[in-house]
Amino acid sequence: MITATSPLVPDLITLDQALELDSAQNLALHRRHLNPRIAALFEIIGAETPLTRAEGCHVWDARGVRYLDFLSGFAALNLGHNHPAIDGALERTRDCCNLVEGLSPAAAALAHNLAVLSPGRGLDRVFFANSGAEAIDASLKLARAATGRSRIVACERGFHGRTMAALSINSTRAFREKFEPLVPHTSFVPYGDADALEQALKQRDVAGFVVEPVQGEAGMVVPPPGYLRQARALCSRYGSLLIADEVQTGLGRTGRLFAVEHDDIVPDALVLGKALGGGVMPISAVLTSEEHWKAAHGGTPRSPFQTPTFGGNTRACVAALATLEVLLQGGLIPHAAGLGELLLTRLRELQAKHPLMAEVSGRGLMAGIRFAAPAGGVISSMTGGVLQRLSHDFIAGLFVLELRQTHRILTLSTLNDPTVLRAQPPLVCTHGHVEEFVRALDQTLTEFRDSLSAGLLKHWHLLVRALTV
Ligand code: PLP
Repeated sequence: MITATSPLVPDLITLDQALELDSAQNLALHRRHLNPRIAALFEIIGAETPLTRAEGCHVWDARGVRYLDFLSGFAALNLGHNHPAIDGALERTRDCCNLVEGLSPAAAALAHNLAVLSPGRGLDRVFFANSGAEAIDASLKLARAATGRSRIVACERGFHGRTMAALSINSTRAFREKFEPLVPHTSFVPYGDADALEQALKQRDVAGFVVEPVQGEAGMVVPPPGYLRQARALCSRYGSLLIADEVQTGLGRTGRLFAVEHDDIVPDALVLGKALGGGVMPISAVLTSEEHWKAAHGGTPRSPFQTPTFGGNTRACVAALATLEVLLQGGLIPHAAGLGELLLTRLRELQAKHPLMAEVSGRGLMAGIRFAAPAGGVISSMTGGVLQRLSHDFIAGLFVLELRQTHRILTLSTLNDPTVLRAQPPLVCTHGHVEEFVRALDQTLTEFRDSLSAGLLKHWHLLVRALTV
């Protein structure tokens, strides 16, 4: 137990104590007050030692063990951990008013820069929020207000966050079912299918079509060539707003500042989040045109639109201004594009050698490795196929374990497709980091080659315990 030394209230943990909690104390608090299942899972896989230090592409746990980060905070750490330019910028705001009544210069400058950088310089009205999901909610309201229509169309298996409205455009049952009924008048079309999109839009009752230029949580899925251009044309033809969710793809992740630049389209709304705050400040933004913005705001100072308390706060905007500078200076985005090519090429070379890798997908430093269903063999004959099915769902998990425990590399599977392992390092990673990841994956694939039996047996006790927590 933690000895209470707080002079304020008995039992209160002081800040000094909080910064010095050991693994057992931390685990006990997570069990008691946060999510006990997550705490148990981390303990089972031997990952209960907190990660306490971070720099660039690496993090260290409290014992001093170093890990290479190939998860990047789910693409929030495009600049890596604790980038000195972001820390330096925030240091300069120490004496600023963070939440000013009135006109914040930092928000003004950031809105200006985002407008200048926006695709085709066409999106010069900006709305700030704090999370990706909150900005997605705002973009749906924008679409409804701008069109006077109610229906929202999104793509199957897409991910846009977990607030009520963002969840309403997530087709994955497991995420939705406990919270229904969700926001009405939403429907889904298969990603990449322009005919299905046209069918959905041609009733002319759709306010907005929300699409990720690369579907991250569906397994790093790149749409067929020309799809986004067709979507742009269809939305214009039928009077619906095209909303590009670039919360994950934006800010250099795919090798361009915005992923829609690969298709040279200008959406009606572009949603940013995650990496915008340099990996340290929560900030998200919706970029749109004057015309749509006016419709949502109603042209009055007392806007009916969203006005979150921390939206556009000085520190978050300063972190975002510094983030844009780092991204644009020194060729970081072309660097990421080059390393993305290398990563995908190396992964495809591995695929040719390992039948367990069914598919390699992605763009830039946003790559997915989809595993094949394990072949029959031992597993199937032992269990009549049940384990085989289960093991397909857990296959990426086995690789996550092995990469973490043996190779000290951090990653996870994608949220809407657990059979896909993500390879999403910070953009500041090097050629050497990419090769290190590929080598570790190659070794793991070689070890697990025989229909995964080896991997399942190796981690069997962990999987069984993880399934029963
Ligand atoms: N949109 C996309 C494409 C995402 O990947 C995510 C989060 O993973 C979100 C929206 C939601 O962002 P947040 O978790 O900041 O609410």
